[in-house]
Amino acid sequence: MTKATVGVLALQGDFREHAAILEECGARVVRVRLPEDLDGLQGLVVPGGESTTMSKLLTSSVLVEPLLEAIEHGLACLTTCAGTILAAREIRDGIPDQVSLDILDIVVRRNAYGRQLQSAEVSLEIPAVGTAPVPVAFIRAPSIEEVGAGVEVLASYQEQAAAVRQGAHIGLTFHPELTGDTRLHRLFLSAL
Ligand code: GLN
Repeated sequence: MTKATVGVLALQGDFREHAAILEECGARVVRVRLPEDLDGLQGLVVPGGESTTMSKLLTSSVLVEPLLEAIEHGLACLTTCAGTILAAREIRDGIPDQVSLDILDIVVRRNAYGRQLQSAEVSLEIPAVGTAPVPVAFIRAPSIEEVGAGVEVLASYQEQAAAVRQGAHIGLTFHPELTGDTRLHRLFLSAL
């Protein structure tokens, strides 16, 4: 198998942790800060962090259009937490003009479990990656309140979708990169 080349959107948030896991999984990693960094990528991780800040930085870096174009041409995205907020079709409790990339046919609500440093480390059943539960962290996480017909729910948390897949795109409301389990990154890479 040839090495996949995967970008990590490196404007803000915990892109370093994703880059380290992707490298551990055997991918070639590119930090994406400029439109030309998207050239030649098969996948892109949009990390957690703060979606309102990332939204502003995406706009000021003139990345929105090139990113949507790359997706149109087959770029697959793994989005986590704030990244999943940006990827949604509709954002509830966002800021005015917050970028919504509409990569995933989902409706999300920001900070659905509390606004401050509300976080929880839990084990989720995610059959798509195996029978052993996956340890993950929810940090000021969004919830997915609506899921379109073409979206597969891979895992739920408190009776709402927490991991979804649409084609080669995977969206997670939690952080899989902070708890030492690489299976979700491997699942993403296996479809590239
Ligand atoms: N609450 C953050 C936001 O709205 C997301 C938190 C996170 O990515 N851990 O962007």
